[in-house]
Formats: sequence, C-alpha cells, structure tokens
Amino acid sequence: MPDVLNYKCPCCSAPLRYDGGSGQLSCAACGNTFPLDAVQQAQQVEDAAQEQGIQWDTERDDQWRPEEAQQLKTYSCPSCGAEIVVDDTTAATECVYCGNASIMPGAVSGSFRPDAVLPFVKTKEDAVAAYLELIKGKKLLPRAFASKKHVDKITGVYVPFWLFQCRADCDLAFRAERSHTHTRGRDRITETEHFLVQRGGTLDFDGVPVDGSSKFDDTLMEAIEPFDYSKMQDFDVAYLPGYQAERYDVDAQDAQGRANERIRTSTVEAFAATVVGYTSVVPQSVNVRLQHGQVVNVLAPVWMLNTKWNDKTYTFAMNGQTGRLVGDLPVDSGAAWKYRLRIFLGTLAGVVGIAALLGFLGVI
Ligand SMILES: [Zn+2]
Ligand SMILES: [Zn+2]
Repeated sequence: MPDVLNYKCPCCSAPLRYDGGSGQLSCAACGNTFPLDAVQQAQQVEDAAQEQGIQWDTERDDQWRPEEAQQLKTYSCPSCGAEIVVDDTTAATECVYCGNASIMPGAVSGSFRPDAVLPFVKTKEDAVAAYLELIKGKKLLPRAFASKKHVDKITGVYVPFWLFQCRADCDLAFRAERSHTHTRGRDRITETEHFLVQRGGTLDFDGVPVDGSSKFDDTLMEAIEPFDYSKMQDFDVAYLPGYQAERYDVDAQDAQGRANERIRTSTVEAFAATVVGYTSVVPQSVNVRLQHGQVVNVLAPVWMLNTKWNDKTYTFAMNGQTGRLVGDLPVDSGAAWKYRLRIFLGTLAGVVGIAALLGFLGVI
C-alpha cells in the first residue's frame, strides 16, 4: 500500500506510515495511530475546503421602462456626489445628504432600476414628531436645529441596499478535542482524544442585507435596522411621488464580499452549535454551495434630516417602517454660555432680592 504514505497526520500534518501489524496508520511525530478510513475522510475534508467560493448570479434587468423614464427625473449633487431619482411631480431643492442648494437636474438614464421596494409606513408627521421629541428640552441645542423651516426639510428617502437570498448546501468539518487527566502512581497523565466532526445540511438565507449607498453611513443604517422584508413589493414608480430615491453607488459585485462573509459566519455559528461535548472545537473546513443565489436591489424607507453646523453634518434618521431612529445632536457652546449666564444672573437677582428684604427688615 505505498500510496498510503501520501497521507498526512490529521493531528500534526507529519507523513503517516502504514503499520502492517495493526493494520493502522501511525505517525512517528506525535505517536498517534489512525484507521485508514478516518484518515481518508480527513483528507476529503481538506480537499473540499479548497474547492470553491460562493457564486452569485448578479445578472439583473435594471433598465427603466421607457414610460417610467418619462415620469422621472434625477438630481445630482456636485458637492457630495449623491444622485437621486424623483417622480416629475416631486420637487427637490437641495441635496438631502449635504444640504447643497445647487443640485443639477437631469433626465433618467437607461439603467439603475430597483427590483423591489419597502413602502413607507411612518408619515412625515410621525418623523417630525419624533424629531421634535428628540430635541425637546435640549436647551443647549444650536438654534439651527429647531427652526420650523429646518424641521420642515425632513425628507423621505428610499435608501438602496442589496438583499442576497439563497439556499445553501453546507459541508463543514470541525477539529474537536476532549482531554482527561488522571494519575497513575506518581504520574499525572493527560490524554487528549482528537475528533474530526463532520456536519452537513441546508440553510435558507431569506435575505442578507448589504448597504448599496456610500452616502448613507453603514453605522447609521445598522442603527435603524432591521427592516421587515416580508413587506417587500415589486418596484413600481407609484411608490415614488413625494419621496426621493437614491441611486445606488455600491454595485452588486462590490457588495458580494460582505454578503459572503456574513453567510459564512452564520453557517459556522449554526453548525458549531451542534458540536457539543468537547473541550475545544475549531472549524477546519467550510464548504458552502448556493442554490438559487439571487441578488435583489431594494429601496428601504428612511426619514432623514441632515443639519450642518460648525462644518460638521449631524444626521437624524428614522426607519420609515418601524420608527426606530438615530440622531446625534451637538451642544452649542455659545448657547451654553448664554444658559449659564442666565442662571448666574437669575441667582444674582435672587441674592439682591434677599439683601433688599433683609435691609428692609433692618437686619443689615
Ligand atoms: Zn502526528
Ligand atoms: Zn450633496
């Protein structure tokens, strides 16, 4: 059996030797012996690990229908590069991302049509109320944040993201160990058993979201997630009037890497949870094969208000489905000074009042 000599020890990777007496393979480096079929299985796992990555079908029909293109117009912002699409009854006067007032109108080009949309559930009134609640009682907030004219600029924006959907056939192997220590005479003996644990199965990924906009901060998006994808509708221009849709600038190819990483991590976690009863478990190989790997461009509803103050942009964003919101607000040191001064003056006035009273009573 000379070919057996090509097998490597599953524990330490040293070459194995066939031991005719025991009918097993033995490792001179670490002293372990293995049955042939166990070593063959370990070898298969190694080979599978190098097999393939995750393949997606990113071919989509993203052409606007001619009748749709007629009803739409675009604006591009020369300042931050954002591109938005609105229907021809909706006015856009300034860039929702950076506040630039000289945005360039244009006709809709052939492509970038989204596949699906999550309709707005929360109204502009809901968003305004949530914003006013957020700034309520913040006496140190710069005036620019609270003016009615500014608050009225809260805009409903459809933010693009990619949804990766698939059924995945998974084969995984874990190296697992189990150790026992016992004493024999004056010796303390630690025995470690090595296992190659194989798992296989099918996982359905309903939708792994990846941001399709570089303008809308990833951390902001994560802060207002999750969205309920079960409410997803096929895209129709009828969802656009009154809202702005951002054109994606991260394409499906670029988004794939993040989706694959998330799918791989979830797969390992799901199967590792079934490998129990060992002292240590380490993933050895993960092989994920996709069936019907589909990529969908979805518009997610977000109420947004960006406020520029002292060269910084502060974003209020609210999930247009669930109302979950995020907002950072600055403290105006000018306002803080006025506020302190007023307290100080208030206290002083109190002291003067008391002095006058004591004087009146003839104490001082
Ligand atoms: Zn070995
Ligand atoms: Zn802009």
